[in-house]
Amino acid sequence: MARSTILKVLLAVALTVGGIACGGSDRLAEPGSAAGMNVLVITIDTLRADRLGCYGHAGAETPVIDALAQTGLLFEQATTVSPITLPSHASIFTGINIPDHGVRHNGTFRLGPENTTLAERFAASGYDTAAFISAFVLDRRFGLNQGFADYDDRFERVLDPGPGSYAERPADAVTARAMGWLQARANAQRDNPFFAWVHYFDPHGPYEPPSPFAERFSSVPYDGEIAFVDHELGRLIEALRQLGALEDTLILLTSDHGEGLGEHDEATHGDLIYDSTMRVPWILSNPRLFPKGKLVRDRLAATIDIAPTIAAMTGIEMNARVDGVDLTATPIKGRTVYLETLAPLLDYGWAPLHGLRRIDSKFIQAPQPEFYDLITDPAELNNLFESRKAAGGLRAELTELMGRWPDAFEVAGIRRELTQEEQQRLASLGYVTGQGVQPPGTRDPKKMMPVWHRINQAARLSVRGEHDDAIAAIREVLTVDPGDGKAWSVAMQIYDRAGQYSEAETCARRALELRPTSDLWVNLARFALNRGDLATFDGALAEAARLDPQNGGIHIGHGHAAALAGDYEKAREEFEEAIEVDPVGSGAAAREQLRRLDALLEQRKN
Ligand SMILES: [Zn+2]
Repeated sequence: MARSTILKVLLAVALTVGGIACGGSDRLAEPGSAAGMNVLVITIDTLRADRLGCYGHAGAETPVIDALAQTGLLFEQATTVSPITLPSHASIFTGINIPDHGVRHNGTFRLGPENTTLAERFAASGYDTAAFISAFVLDRRFGLNQGFADYDDRFERVLDPGPGSYAERPADAVTARAMGWLQARANAQRDNPFFAWVHYFDPHGPYEPPSPFAERFSSVPYDGEIAFVDHELGRLIEALRQLGALEDTLILLTSDHGEGLGEHDEATHGDLIYDSTMRVPWILSNPRLFPKGKLVRDRLAATIDIAPTIAAMTGIEMNARVDGVDLTATPIKGRTVYLETLAPLLDYGWAPLHGLRRIDSKFIQAPQPEFYDLITDPAELNNLFESRKAAGGLRAELTELMGRWPDAFEVAGIRRELTQEEQQRLASLGYVTGQGVQPPGTRDPKKMMPVWHRINQAARLSVRGEHDDAIAAIREVLTVDPGDGKAWSVAMQIYDRAGQYSEAETCARRALELRPTSDLWVNLARFALNRGDLATFDGALAEAARLDPQNGGIHIGHGHAAALAGDYEKAREEFEEAIEVDPVGSGAAAREQLRRLDALLEQRKN
C-alpha cells in the first residue's frame, strides 16, 4: 500500500513539473512503477479490436476485458506487425521487427536462440515463468518456449483436418491449466513474482463456440467465441483475486492479429495487411497503477512495443536491441511501424506484402501500391496512392528500411523466374493456357481472393467426397494460376482422396518445385512407396528429414516400408516414434497404423 501512495505522489509531482516545464503531461506511467509485480500476458488469437465492448462494439459480450480496460490504458490505435500467428508472437516477445528475428511464417520457421525474449529476461531476474498455449502453431518446437520454465503446449483436441484447422485446445482447458499453476505456486508459498503468458485460440476459425454461447450468438458465432474466451478469462482473473494477487499483477491483453470476416474479400487472415486483420486490442491493466483507466489516442501502439513497455514498467532490462518503444513514455511524432506478410509468396507464389503504418495512414507495397488515410477512410476502401504526396515519403522510408534485410524471395528460396523446361512441362500437362505462366511473386494478393475462395471450395468438396467437382474446381484454379504452390498441394490431396495416385504424385512434384516442404516430401515418399519405387521413397524421406527432422510423417513412412518388408517390429518402433515426436498430428495417424498392424498380426496368428 505504501508503494502505491508514494507512486501517486510521484505521479502528481511528475504531472505538475511536466505541466510547467514543457506543456505536456503525456507520460502515462513512470519507469519502474510495476517493479516487483507479477506480469500476465494474455494473447487472444484472431481477435479484432473492434469486436470488444471497450473498443466500441455494441453487440459484444466482453465484460471481463472491458473491466480490464476500466483500470488500464487502452490504446485506441494499435497494430500488429504480422497477420500470422508465429511471426506475430515472435515480435511480441522480442520487441523486434520480423525480418530481424527471421520468423517469417508459421510452420517452417523457428525463433532462434540468438534472440532475447521477454520471458528470458524475467527468468534471469528471478521470476517464475510459465506459458499456456492453445494451438500447435506455437508448439515449443518453434522456439517461443525460450525463457519459460514451464511451457504447457499439450493440445487435447484435434479438429477435423479441414483447410485452416490446427490441433488446439479450448479456453476452459487452458484456463484450468493456468489456474492449476497459480494454485501450485500459492501452495508452495512462492514469494517471488511470476511472468506468465496465456494464449487463447478460440476465435480462430472454425467458429464453433460451446453452449450457451453457440445459442446466444447463433448468427455471429465469431462473437460467440470471443464471449466464451472472455468468460474463461474471467475465471482466471477471479483466481488471481482469490489468491490476493490481482492488485500485484500487471496484465497485458492483446491479439496476434484480427480476422477478415469478408472485408476486402478476405475470409480469415494472413494474406492481406489491412486493418481488419492488423488492428488489435492493446490494453495494459492494473487497478493500483491505473485506478481510473485511460483511453489513449495520441500515439500509435504496436505489438513490438509490448516487450519494451513491460520491461520499462517492471524495471527489467531487455539487454538487446528492440524496435518497439516504451508506450508509457512521451510519444514519438510521426512514428511508423513496419508490417509484412510473406504468406502470399510462400504459400501461393503471389507477391509478398510490406507496409508502413502511421497513426493516421498506411502505405502498402504491392504490385499495385496502396495508401490510405485512416482518419477519413478507416475501412481502407479508397486507395490514394496516386494523389497523396505523403505516400511517396512512406514508400521511400519503407524501401530504405527493407534495404537492410534479405529479400523475401531469398528467404523463401523461391526463384523469380520459371525455367523454359518448367514452362514446357506445365504446357504438356495441360495446365497452361494462352497467357503463359506469370513469374513468381508478381500477382497482387488483393486481386487473388477469388482464387483463394475457389481453392478452399475445392478442398471442402474433396473432404465431403465430391471428388469430380473438387477436381474440376482445382483444375480451374491451376489453369488461371499455374504458379500457385498452394493450389498444387491442395490438388495433390484432392487426387489422393479420389484414389488417383499418379495424378496426385504429379501435383506433389509440381508443388515441390515451387516451394519444397517437409510434408510434401513425405507425401511424395508415400506415392513412391505405393509404386514400389524405393529409391525415390528413400530420397524423399531424407529431404523431408532435412527440412524438418521432427516431422512425425517421416516415421510413419519408414513404418510403412518396414511393414511391407515384413519387419513388423521395426514398423511398430517407427509408429511409436511418430507418436512420440508429435502426439497430436502424426500421432493420431500413427495410432491408427498401430491398430491396423495389431489386427494384421492377430489375423496371421489365427
Ligand atoms: Zn493467430
